[in-house]
Amino acid sequence: MSEEASQSNGSATSQEPAHHTRSRELFEQAQETIPGGVNSPARAFRSVGGDPVFIESGLGSHLSDADGNSYIDYIGSWGPLILGHRREEVTKALYSVLETGTSFGAPTEREVEMAELICELVPSIEMVRLVNSGTEATMSAIRVARGFTGRDLVVKFVGCYHGHVDSLLVKAGSGVATLGLSDSGGVPAAFSATTIPLPFNSVEALEECFANHGDKIACVIVEPVVGNMGCVPPQPGYLEALREVTAKHGALLIFDEVMTGFRVSLGGAQELYGIKPDMTTLGKVIGGGLPVGAYGGRKDVMSKVAPLGPVYQAGTLSGNPLAVAAGLAALKVLKNSPELYEQVDGKSGRLVEGVKKAAADAGVAMTTNRVGSMFTFFFNDGPVTDWDSSARSDTERFAFFFRGMLELGCYLPCSQYEAAFLSAAHTDEDVAGTIDAAGKVLAALASKT
Ligand SMILES: *Cc1c(COP(=O)(O)O)cnc(C)c1O
Repeated sequence: MSEEASQSNGSATSQEPAHHTRSRELFEQAQETIPGGVNSPARAFRSVGGDPVFIESGLGSHLSDADGNSYIDYIGSWGPLILGHRREEVTKALYSVLETGTSFGAPTEREVEMAELICELVPSIEMVRLVNSGTEATMSAIRVARGFTGRDLVVKFVGCYHGHVDSLLVKAGSGVATLGLSDSGGVPAAFSATTIPLPFNSVEALEECFANHGDKIACVIVEPVVGNMGCVPPQPGYLEALREVTAKHGALLIFDEVMTGFRVSLGGAQELYGIKPDMTTLGKVIGGGLPVGAYGGRKDVMSKVAPLGPVYQAGTLSGNPLAVAAGLAALKVLKNSPELYEQVDGKSGRLVEGVKKAAADAGVAMTTNRVGSMFTFFFNDGPVTDWDSSARSDTERFAFFFRGMLELGCYLPCSQYEAAFLSAAHTDEDVAGTIDAAGKVLAALASKT
């Protein structure tokens, strides 16, 4: 591991240990037919050096790779697996659906049950439509907001990610920022021009924007707890200000809870902070590890969706029996184990405090942000409250930390700007082992610089 490794843009380094042989072979092969060798850019280790490990299986809190190495998993498929890998209830539900058919393109009873459960659990949702990904959910939600208000402009926040929707790839945080792209190619300037990016957590910027363009703004879309510039919570009063200002100007407030939904609490960030948005987008946890997304909200707003209203949105595999069964099984476990959130919060707290103390002991500048089981170790003096303060992090130090932790069997997100997740399957031993590993890596980092 060296500082050069972190800047080598993903090419293998001579120091790379031998036991990633099979992963390296597969990655070489993958790059011939898959752009960058990965089916989503966040999976490439571009910003941390070295090659991605190829995963073979997961069980509980652990992953095994193609070379037989085992890791404690702090990605959880980038958020969905709050119950860990292969949770029994979810796996059973999938087996039972397999015996009835995998797709019908017609309504099924399970979808009704799922819709009712979402409306019960997420405070602001009165009506909901299922889709196949978080991207589809946010794309559809802003279309509905535009259809409902008859306005075009969308306000988003610098460093928030809402999927790869054309007009939302402006100042889009994590994946985009990690690659050093401020915007995406292939997006017509006219689309980006419908988006107004504002700094997160600034009430002043929000009020000024609405004073200037208030009557043209269809909606504000926000990650109520940001996960895509690393974990950045809203400051006290900020979500309240979003609610107040949008309502005053007749714009809709959309909480993008694709990451926070069923994660920071059973009812998501809106329950945790007690704010009712007009619309909510969901993904990740809602699919129990299968592809499900959803958007929902006020009945009068959702009544604009076809076939009830004029806003078109459709999906061949939407409400897919396997995906819905997995999601439903996961949500039922969460609903029926109210103690689970407290336990996961406790373990996450101990982990983050332990790593923070290890950094202090080693004399490494670190700021930690955490909301429940979502957290980030920023190599930064802090505080981290928005994109600018997050971007001041030392990404070379982060890369060293990431590589060292991986070698010691801890699989963290391969970007400073992605939140890490803990699941209900993580044990106290997992947490203690991770703190121990962090102590070693941080001491090595301190002695190197
Ligand atoms: C992951 C994510 C998305 C995109 O979801 P996909 O299923 O990857 O399309 C949208 N919004 C937020 C907040 C996310 O974290």
